[in-house]
Amino acid sequence: MFGIRYIGNTHIPHFKRTASLASIDLPTPKSVLVPMLQHIGAPAAPIVQPGDTVEIGQKIAEAAGYVSSPIYAPICGTVDKFEEYLRPDGRKVQAIRINWNGEVKFHHSVQPKDIYSLDDLITAARESGVVGLGGAGFPLAVKLDVLRKNAIDTVILNGAECEPYITSDTRTMIDRADDVRQGVELLIRTAPAVKKYIIGIEKNKPEAIKTMRETFKDLSCVTVKALPQRYPQGAEKVLIYNTVRRVVPEGKLPSDVNVLVLNITSMAVLAKYCRTGMPLVRKSVTLDGSAVASPKNIKAPIGTSIKEIIEFGGGTTGEVGKILLGGPMMGSAVASADEPITKTTGAITILSKEDVQLPNETSCIHCGRCAEACPHLLKPLLYSNSLELTDKEEKMKILDKNKIMLCVECGSCSFVCPAGRPLVLNNKIAKSEYRAYTEEMKKKGGM
Ligand code: SF4
Ligand code: SF4
Repeated sequence: MFGIRYIGNTHIPHFKRTASLASIDLPTPKSVLVPMLQHIGAPAAPIVQPGDTVEIGQKIAEAAGYVSSPIYAPICGTVDKFEEYLRPDGRKVQAIRINWNGEVKFHHSVQPKDIYSLDDLITAARESGVVGLGGAGFPLAVKLDVLRKNAIDTVILNGAECEPYITSDTRTMIDRADDVRQGVELLIRTAPAVKKYIIGIEKNKPEAIKTMRETFKDLSCVTVKALPQRYPQGAEKVLIYNTVRRVVPEGKLPSDVNVLVLNITSMAVLAKYCRTGMPLVRKSVTLDGSAVASPKNIKAPIGTSIKEIIEFGGGTTGEVGKILLGGPMMGSAVASADEPITKTTGAITILSKEDVQLPNETSCIHCGRCAEACPHLLKPLLYSNSLELTDKEEKMKILDKNKIMLCVECGSCSFVCPAGRPLVLNNKIAKSEYRAYTEEMKKKGGM
């Protein structure tokens, strides 16, 4: 039996040490490296050439398809060259190097947008370059597109931010409450079929809950729901269940249960775009972790190197074990601190050498904790065991029967395993093998 459970099993330390710290601005860096793929979908197509002069907010790459997103210059300067950028997921993509020319000037295209209809709002979302800023990177315009069907009755704004350390959405709710309000008002005005707006926030963010309740106290269609501090509260299907008690069936989308989930910062950035015309060119990131000397929230142009943000933030302390883009549960380790931040970077987490020591892996003691911890009622142990099978058909049968693709890679199973087994890593391997197998079968006409 698969589905979803009310999260009651996985308590992780939250370390929200930066929750009370507003973002501080990083001075313009000398150079930025802007990858063409910072979202789910097709990489954006560059429309500038080496030698071109660009200004802040000028489009430098077009969306290359329906599921894609345009990219804008985050600083003024000269396009130096195109470089190959190796993403943390191992994919090589094109990136544009821009060298700062000492100016801070907005491009003439940065102008307020008139929003009279849902079409206008979706067009604005597409042109704003906003994607799921909680880390998913799904283009916001594609998400908003489901509102055209008039079947969505509830919009959930995701302010759960359940990963340890990260507080960038928390600060959006506190420091940019007016932008959040304007984002919701845009939806109320252009999507009348939506009857209910729910802002879901974990209880460990009392200031954000208070600010949001104050901000929306005169809007009866908006509820601010304080959620238990349990991981992974912010996972889309978990959040839907915990706010409106609807279960998204396997293989279906939130829209199939008439719900749309949007990251709260994405909507705040879209509201600002409509008001000012400034697309997504800067990102607020939490710099924290056991090897960070002075945790902070820092706002920097997209494409700024991790190294510059660390140095500006006060550097590291002790021996660094790992640098992650994102939090310790779902973040990706980077190979070098020269890598840039992107639209989806919510945090730079730096862990000490001590904290990244892998526990000695021992045999499974069949305690069942991994299955208990799973928000999707999966059995991660079966996936790990299946990887040892040499019979491919048998392996795929097990993965299929036990719904490997429902795994959201939240890491809860690994976190609770007393035997130190790398369950989430095995899940990722099993998912990629299963994906390759199903694609192969589809090509052969077998699935
Ligand atoms: S990583 Fe996958 S299998 Fe493990 S707890 Fe999360 S959803 Fe379940
Ligand atoms: S939590 Fe670890 S030890 Fe317990 S059943 Fe799962 S894999 Fe085995």
